[in-house]
Amino acid sequence: MGLLYLGTPLTWDEAMQYADHVREHGITQFLHTWDRVKDRWGDQLLWGDEVEYMVVTFDDEEKNAKLSLRQTEILVKLNQVVGDLTDDDTPAHVTVPAFHPEYGKYMLESTPGSPYTSSISSLLSVETNMHYRRTLTRKHLKANEIPFTFTSFPRLGTRGVFTEPHHSSDDAKSSYSLFLAEEITSPHPRFPIVVANTRSRRGSKIAINLPIFIDKRTPRPFVDPTIPLQCYPEDPEAKNGVALIDHIYMDASGFGFGCCCLQLTFQSCNVGDARRMYDALVPVGPIMLALTAASPAWRGYLADVDCRWNVIAGSADDRTPEERGLNPSKDDYIIPKSRYDSVDLYISNDWINKPEYNDVPAPYDKGIFQRLCNHGIDEMLAKHIAHLFIRDPLVILSEAINQDDTTSNHHFESIQSTNWQTVRFKPPPPNSPIGWRVEFRPMEVQMTDFENAAFAVFIVLLSRAILAFNLNFYIPISKVDQNMARAQRRDAARSVHLRAVDHVRLRKLLQRRRNYFAIVFSTVPRPLYVKDGPIEDEYEEMTMEEIFVGKGSKFPGLLGVVKAYLDILDVDEEDRLQISKYLDLVRRRAIGSLQTPATWIRNFVRSHPSYNHDSVVSQEINYDLMVAVDEIERGVRRVPELLPEDYTPTKGYHSKPNGP
Ligand code: ADP
Ligand code: MG
Ligand code: MG
Ligand code: MG
Repeated sequence: MGLLYLGTPLTWDEAMQYADHVREHGITQFLHTWDRVKDRWGDQLLWGDEVEYMVVTFDDEEKNAKLSLRQTEILVKLNQVVGDLTDDDTPAHVTVPAFHPEYGKYMLESTPGSPYTSSISSLLSVETNMHYRRTLTRKHLKANEIPFTFTSFPRLGTRGVFTEPHHSSDDAKSSYSLFLAEEITSPHPRFPIVVANTRSRRGSKIAINLPIFIDKRTPRPFVDPTIPLQCYPEDPEAKNGVALIDHIYMDASGFGFGCCCLQLTFQSCNVGDARRMYDALVPVGPIMLALTAASPAWRGYLADVDCRWNVIAGSADDRTPEERGLNPSKDDYIIPKSRYDSVDLYISNDWINKPEYNDVPAPYDKGIFQRLCNHGIDEMLAKHIAHLFIRDPLVILSEAINQDDTTSNHHFESIQSTNWQTVRFKPPPPNSPIGWRVEFRPMEVQMTDFENAAFAVFIVLLSRAILAFNLNFYIPISKVDQNMARAQRRDAARSVHLRAVDHVRLRKLLQRRRNYFAIVFSTVPRPLYVKDGPIEDEYEEMTMEEIFVGKGSKFPGLLGVVKAYLDILDVDEEDRLQISKYLDLVRRRAIGSLQTPATWIRNFVRSHPSYNHDSVVSQEINYDLMVAVDEIERGVRRVPELLPEDYTPTKGYHSKPNGP
C-alpha cells in the first residue's frame, strides 16, 4: 500500500491544518529530486514484482475457511527467518525475500529481496522466486493455515464467522462498517487512519454497490437480507438506504483494500524512457485487468463482475459530495474519479503523444502547475504532478511534519503514494541508487506462481519491446476508461478497444534495429513516413484474441510484438521453451481456450452440489473452493480448463544444508 513509516498519525481535523504544508513541501521535495536526477541516464532495466497473499485457516470440522488475523505474529516470524538467511540459502538466482504488511490483518506482501536484472536467466527465475516466497511463508504458518494468492475472499463481510478469531463489527470505529470489524485492519498505524480519514473527508461512509449475478433462483428484486437495520448515528447514508436493490452492498474501505493483487515495477534508462513506458502501459492496463480477472464473489454472493477494480476505487473514494458532483449548486469543483482509479493523463513529451489523447477532464492545481513550470518542468509533466496534488494527504505523522526538503521525499510520497492509479510514475528516491521507475498495478493476483510468473514475464517482455521498437499504443484516455469499465464485466475477455499499431512501421523498425535485452533506444525522431490523420482512424475495437494474437496485416498483436522482440535476442532453446510456456498461457486466456480464474471460480460455485442457484456463496461452498484452490496450487487437482494440460506445479527446492 505504499509508504509504511511508523509514527503517530493525526486525526482528520488535525491533519487538515497541514494539508497545504504537505503539498507545498511535497512539491519542494519533488523539485529537489528533479534537479538532482532529471539528467540521470544509463540505469539498468531492473524490475521487480509484488505478490499479495491472504492467510486462510481451515476448520475442517465446521467446514469453514476463515481469514487468519495473525499478520503481526507471522511477519515477526518471517522477518526473523529472512534475517537469518543469506543468498547462499536460497535457490539459484533467488535473493533473500522481503515481507511487508498489507491492509488486511490477514494479508501479507512479498517482494524479491533485490530486483531482477535484464538477463534472461533472471527473467526466468521469477517463478522460482515467487514459489520460494510462498513456500517460506507456508512453512512458518500454523499447520491449518495456508497463504493464498487469491484476489477477493468470497465470504469477507458476511454475517457468518469469516475470521479467526471472530470479531463483531459493533465497534468498527474507523470505517463505521456494518460488516467489517475494526480488527480486520492491520494494526500498522497507517491503515486504520487511511480508513478513518477517507471516511471523514468524504463526509459519509464508503458505499459500494456491485451488481449481483442473477441466477435461476436469485430472489427478484434482490433485497439483501443480511444488511442489518441498526447503523451508526453519524451515518445518514446508510440510514437513507444507500444499499441498492439487485446489488451487493459494501460499506467500508476494507472490501477493496482487503483484496490481493500482482504489481510489477520497472526501472528505465532515463526519465524520458520512463515517461514513454508509462504511456505505453496505460492502454494495456484494462486489457490485463480483463485477462487476469479473478474476483467474482463478494460478501457471500456471486457478482455480475469479475474484477476488484471498482470495489477498490470505491474503497478509496474520499471525495466530498461537492467533488463527486452531488451538490453542484454549492460548488462546481468536480473531481471525476476516486484517488484509486485509472490514469487521467499521458505524460510523455514525445511527438507521438498527441494532445488529443488526453481527452478526459483532469483537474489540476493551477498554483502548483505554475510553480513547476516556473522551475523549468515541461507542461506535460507539470500537469501530471499538479493533478496528483489536488488530493489531500490522508496520513500525516506528527513526528514527520517538518522535513529537510533537500534530502527527504516524505511529503511528496504522502500524496504520490495515495494516488493509486493503474500505472504509477516513480521518481528516484533521495539517497538511493534507484532510478526512474514505472509501476504496473492493474492485474489481479493469480492462484498459482506459474500464472503470476507468466503475466510478469509477458509484461516485462512487452515493456522491453515497447522501448526497443519505440511502439505506440496510444488511444484516447476516454477509450482507456471505457475499457476499464468493460474489463470488469462478467466474461469480459472479449471486446476491448486497442489502437492498431501501424504494421508497416513496426516492420521497418524491426528491420533496422538489432537490440539486446539490456539496451534501449531513447526517443526516435518523427519518421517521414508517418502521416497524421484523424485520431479516430488510429484505433478500432478488437476482440481479446485480436489484441493478443493479431488482426491480419493490420496489427501483429501484443504477443506478435513480444515474439518479434524475442527473435532479436540471443535466447537459448531451453529458455525459449520456458518463455513460450508463459506466453502460451497468455495466448490461451486471450483466445478463450483457458478460463480466467474468475470464470473458473464462478463455475465452481455454480456447480457445487449444495449451491441453490440463488447467488449465495455459502460457508460450505467457500470451504470447498479454498480447498480446491490449494490443491490446484500444489498440483494435486488437475484443472485443464484453467491451466495447460502439461502444467506442473512449480518445482520444490533442493534443501541446502542450512536452508529454511
Ligand atoms: P510499493 O509497495 O511502494 O509499490 P515495494 O517496495 O513493495 O513498492 O515494491 C517495489 C518493487 O520494485 C519490488 O518488486 C522491488 O524488487 C522492485 N525494485 C526495487 N528496486 C528497483 C529498481 N531499482 N528498479 C526496478 N524495480 C525495483
Ligand atoms: Mg501491496
Ligand atoms: Mg509494496
Ligand atoms: Mg506497489
